[in-house]
Amino acid sequence: MSINLFDLTGKTALITGSSRGLGLAIAEGMAAAGASVVLNGMNGERLEASASKLRDEGFDVNVAAFDVTDEAAVCQALERMDHEGIEIDILVNNAGIQFRKPMLELETNDWQRVIDTNLTSAFIVSREVAKRMVKKGAGKIVNIGSLTSDLARATVAPYTVAKGGIKMLTKSMAAEWGQYGIQANAIGPGYMLTDMNEALTSNPEFDGWVKGRTPAGRWGRPDELAGTAIYLSSAASDYVNGHIVYVDGGMISVL
Ligand code: NDP
Repeated sequence: MSINLFDLTGKTALITGSSRGLGLAIAEGMAAAGASVVLNGMNGERLEASASKLRDEGFDVNVAAFDVTDEAAVCQALERMDHEGIEIDILVNNAGIQFRKPMLELETNDWQRVIDTNLTSAFIVSREVAKRMVKKGAGKIVNIGSLTSDLARATVAPYTVAKGGIKMLTKSMAAEWGQYGIQANAIGPGYMLTDMNEALTSNPEFDGWVKGRTPAGRWGRPDELAGTAIYLSSAASDYVNGHIVYVDGGMISVL
């Protein structure tokens, strides 16, 4: 077969939360696979710095600074892209936060903030982008879940609930939007080396636990997500819909 099923040339990808960490690594991978990428985050300075790094590598990059939990801001950003002629073929719902506290001490507003950022935002952004994809009869959505899409751990209840919700939101998208030529799948990263885990990587006990419980014997690198994200955004996965793929060094299989 001569065609490259993983080629993203001519496609535009919006990756939420891509000013750093996993989102930025996914954006870089997709750009290397030929896509134009739109970076998103809330910290405009960080966003511009990351965009400029990718542009220096020769990639086609736009930025859209908005808070994914702010419905009006999401709609405005997408309308701006419409006016600029930017049509989104691929959406990666990656923006997320983590917050650690035992449930007995957890305040309702902290619960809500984590659910809003990690789950409700993916619904809002996807609904607005999917309205546009439906008109084109095609689109790829990749939602970033977690090992906690399937497993609970103490002190991260709202995060776990949100990521479990991401898995079922993905299946709901597949059930409702497959008829429009849209495929929605999720990635469940294991323990990855990003800012989100800074406090955990520098804690020798936790670091030892991760390395001991992961068959790979190490933390994951952000760039190790890119291949799966490219696969789930490309023609290679056109008949794959509603699934979650774990990129976890084998951890979920042995916990
Ligand atoms: P980081 O904390 O390194 O980066 C988070 C990114 O999300 C930043 O770009 C940040 O933007 C952005 N962001 C946060 N809140 C918002 C918001 N309200 N609106 C727009 N952007 C926002 O996280 P990771 O890269 O580690 O995580 C990325 C995703 O992967 C998350 O969904 C996380 O839950 C998931 N994940 C991570 C794992 C890991 O081990 N790291 C494991 C499993 C899942 P800004 O720079 O402006 O703050």
